[in-house]
Amino acid sequence: MGIWGADEAAALAALGLHALQHRGQEAAGIVSHSVEGFRQHKGLGLVGDVFNDPRVIASLPGRSAIGHNRYATTGATLLRNVQPLFAEFEFGGLAVAHNGNLTNAETLRKVLVRRGCIFQSTTDSEVFVHLIAISLYETVMDRLIDAVKQVKGAYSLVALTSDMMIGLRDPLGVRPLILGRLPHSGAWVLASETCALDIMGAEFVRDVEPGEIVVIDDAGVRSIKPFSPVSPRFCVFEYIYFARPDSVLEGHPVYTARQKIGVELARESAVDADVIVPVPDSGVPAAMGFAMESGIPFEMGIIRNHYVGRTFIEPTDHIRHLGVRMKHSANRVVLEGKRVVLVDDSIVRGTTSRKIVDMVRAAGATEVHMRISSPPTRHPCFYGIDTPEESKLLAATHDLASMAEVIGVDSLAFISFDGLYRALGHEGRDAMAAGYCDACFTGDYPIELVDKEGRLVA
Ligand code: 5GP
Ligand code: SF4
Ligand code: MG
Repeated sequence: MGIWGADEAAALAALGLHALQHRGQEAAGIVSHSVEGFRQHKGLGLVGDVFNDPRVIASLPGRSAIGHNRYATTGATLLRNVQPLFAEFEFGGLAVAHNGNLTNAETLRKVLVRRGCIFQSTTDSEVFVHLIAISLYETVMDRLIDAVKQVKGAYSLVALTSDMMIGLRDPLGVRPLILGRLPHSGAWVLASETCALDIMGAEFVRDVEPGEIVVIDDAGVRSIKPFSPVSPRFCVFEYIYFARPDSVLEGHPVYTARQKIGVELARESAVDADVIVPVPDSGVPAAMGFAMESGIPFEMGIIRNHYVGRTFIEPTDHIRHLGVRMKHSANRVVLEGKRVVLVDDSIVRGTTSRKIVDMVRAAGATEVHMRISSPPTRHPCFYGIDTPEESKLLAATHDLASMAEVIGVDSLAFISFDGLYRALGHEGRDAMAAGYCDACFTGDYPIELVDKEGRLVA
């Protein structure tokens, strides 16, 4: 999140972070700037817990602020790993918030440490700070460009200095970043998703383009394109699962995309059944599409307890197992004596699916069919989604029949690549000139995995 040119910028940033809570629940932080200089507040936990006291927001004065929600992909859950990262440089203070994950951060860190850089955190993102600090260029912008030309991976960045706010996306635009504007104050807003604009009544202006730097100051917005253009590779999993359904990504409403995937899924793998039941919340739009296309009624056969975080994001296997049971319960009135189609967005380890299938059978379902609105997840993500290593991915170690057996379903089907891309408005995967990153499904990694070389890159 970033706000430029509004009274109570930190309060608006906190609102935006609240709307973006689904992107990270481990920690949150805000850095603001005023005539008194930079101020920061960070904490572990949800936005509402970290910024629960009005005195905290009051301690972050100024008309500019940036904020971050953390979902760890590199580095432990420690206060010193919470962003925005802030440092004083030759040119003054700079705060940076990074969404994504770098693939050469370990390699760069080794070189930087040898050169005398003192790292404060264990996150990949801190290399930006040191690369900017040691750059031989003069201006902040030249130093930033120098830094981003050395990193590899996925990064949408929001940065703040005393006289400008900067937004930038990596050349492939793997993670989203959008520009918005508040109607009365004319303040500028940067955010990962449009749902953060909606919460504060800001208007959508445009997506920051892949490889673009937007520089926002009191004179307005300026655009810099320091990279030679390449085909963008936006994360397709943002559409399938990660983004909030009321957001619009790259011109496509996420909700509609998910419903259309459900329609395609129903066409590809129809089944005789009595009810279509989503695994809430992430399976809901796809299940609606499946129900519309198949003509089978949509029912809430599983009820979700909303007071538990996303199971996947909680760090240990032990907690994740507990979490799944705490989170979903079977709604017997819908399931008893019925042939049920369960629709979910993805199977990662398979633990959620297995438990849900058991619950649905225990509630009296006579048949359970599982339909998944993503292709099988066979590879880890190195670009900012915390997918586990191959050995823990059910689809990487089992074929379709043995997956169905492990999960305990009568039938199992995943959306095809062509079905997925048709749902996103393309002819099919082969017909596209790249377009998306889908490496966790295909193993086709669009950005070099420098730190992992030898293990994953042939
Ligand atoms: P599993 O139990 O198979 O490991 O996890 C699958 C469930 O985790 C799905 O319901 C999906 O919605 C959810 N999930 C939550 N966070 C993530 C994530 O970051 N990646 C993936 N692939 N699934 C996630
Ligand atoms: Fe998204 Fe998967 Fe690519 Fe990661 S590997 S950026 S989750 S599509
Ligand atoms: Mg889910």
